Amino acid sequence: MEGDPEAKKAIKVVATTGMIKDLVENIGGDHVSVVGLIGSGVDPHLYKPTISDVKKLQQAEFIFYNGLKLEGKMGDILEKIKSDGRRTYAVCENLTELEKYLIDEGEGHVDPHVWMDVNGWMAAADVVARALADHYPDLKNDFVASSKIYKTELEALNAYCRVSLSSIPESQRILVTAHDAFNYMARAYGLSVRGIQGISTESEAGVREIEDLVDFLVESKIPAVFVESSVSDKNVKALIEGAEAKKWRVEIGGELFSDAMGIEGTYRGTYIGMIDHNITTITRSLGGEAPESGLNGKLKTSTE
Ligand code: ZN
Repeated sequence: MEGDPEAKKAIKVVATTGMIKDLVENIGGDHVSVVGLIGSGVDPHLYKPTISDVKKLQQAEFIFYNGLKLEGKMGDILEKIKSDGRRTYAVCENLTELEKYLIDEGEGHVDPHVWMDVNGWMAAADVVARALADHYPDLKNDFVASSKIYKTELEALNAYCRVSLSSIPESQRILVTAHDAFNYMARAYGLSVRGIQGISTESEAGVREIEDLVDFLVESKIPAVFVESSVSDKNVKALIEGAEAKKWRVEIGGELFSDAMGIEGTYRGTYIGMIDHNITTITRSLGGEAPESGLNGKLKTSTE
């Protein structure tokens, strides 16, 4: 794209997470040039903006971020830029298409992991499309058209999530992961979830919490637990060892993408690929039926 005169006209957008970068690119198409700050495998709860990130944020025409305190350590700079009157949108804070959608954890904490439910992400797509169209009314038709096309793909993904997860035997529809990133998925598709850490990775899990979960695994005869690409696997390993000591063998069902996507440029480095990977992995590890290569036949290798 360098040296391409068309590229220079693109609206300069900064997105915090990879999921939001992907969303804005799908809706903005050639009209946007999106820089993402938090890369593959990086935990947004703990991510500290670099000097170069701050510069990028200050130079952006548009900033899209998740909000709901997902970007915990970026909150101050995002607020500051917003108070300067810049175009700054917390994509998941105002899902106007969905009523009473957000999961309130109490004490001022709202679960930020909206992308885990494709329905929530479709509403986030509307937020992005509307924000862009408000400021660039000449391009509105293009944003509406690409949003419609992308949402058709998301509808197919949503149906795949429903069908795949409902094929898991009912007693095994329990997802145990490193942190509580999967509540929206659980609510949308009928799973129970338990995370070792809470909705943020900022607070450490205690010995007591791990012991309780070990008892739960053994009593519920859960066959598999899952690690996450952006969170250390040490707590999950402690769970497996704890269960083993009580003569219950638990496997690692696979690595899930919770708060960051796969490597950029691969299928798993897209939102659709990330969710396809998660759903396919969970379904197959817990005894349900889903094709090994996933919804689009693209999960052929274990990493791409
Ligand atoms: Zn998280």
